[in-house]
Amino acid sequence: MRVLIVEDDPMIGASLVRGLTDEGYVVDWVHDGAQAETALQNGANEFHVALLDWGLPRKSGIEVIRHIRRAGNNIPVLVITARDSLNDRVLGLDQGADDFLVKPFELAELKARIRALVRRHSGRVKPELKTAVLSLDTTSRTVTRDGRRIQLTAREYALLHALMQRPGTLLSRAQLEARIYGWADSVESNAIEFLLHGLRQKIGGEQIENVRGIGWRVATGP
Ligand code: CA
Repeated sequence: MRVLIVEDDPMIGASLVRGLTDEGYVVDWVHDGAQAETALQNGANEFHVALLDWGLPRKSGIEVIRHIRRAGNNIPVLVITARDSLNDRVLGLDQGADDFLVKPFELAELKARIRALVRRHSGRVKPELKTAVLSLDTTSRTVTRDGRRIQLTAREYALLHALMQRPGTLLSRAQLEARIYGWADSVESNAIEFLLHGLRQKIGGEQIENVRGIGWRVATGP
């Protein structure tokens, strides 16, 4: 899961990056509203959710929301605000924000809200992703095959999560890289194949299909 953090406070930003990275999220951090717009323009489909501070230099949170919604970007946006102002919330929601969280907040609540937003955005009701054989629980971050728990690394989990979000849909190498690596990660040219190799050994080689020259998809049948 890739998260864009837009936060100008260095302490809060750093603690968000640390907290979410520790949980296996891929996190990128920008520090003002103008950078946020650029990041969301260039990577509209890469981030699953944006955490947007309300009070930002150069462009405010509300201006960022207006801008990206006008541009047709429907990424889930969770606004983080220092004060709980009814007017701010009404204005923000009306302009296209999806949820609000007031500082200070617990990481557990932030993560639960992120999961809920991403779930709703993808049209799912339950926290599990399933194929005929595999089940991925986004709450506990666990994967089972025929009910048996499988231990995955954080990257393997992220890769399988990307594939299982749309079972049967082919994802290219570039699409997979965009979903599981952040800007700061240096990605070797064969990194995805290497990860897929390890993942297949754990979940069963037939569970991930390759269409040569196009990409990979998770098997939907038994
Ligand atoms: Ca701020």
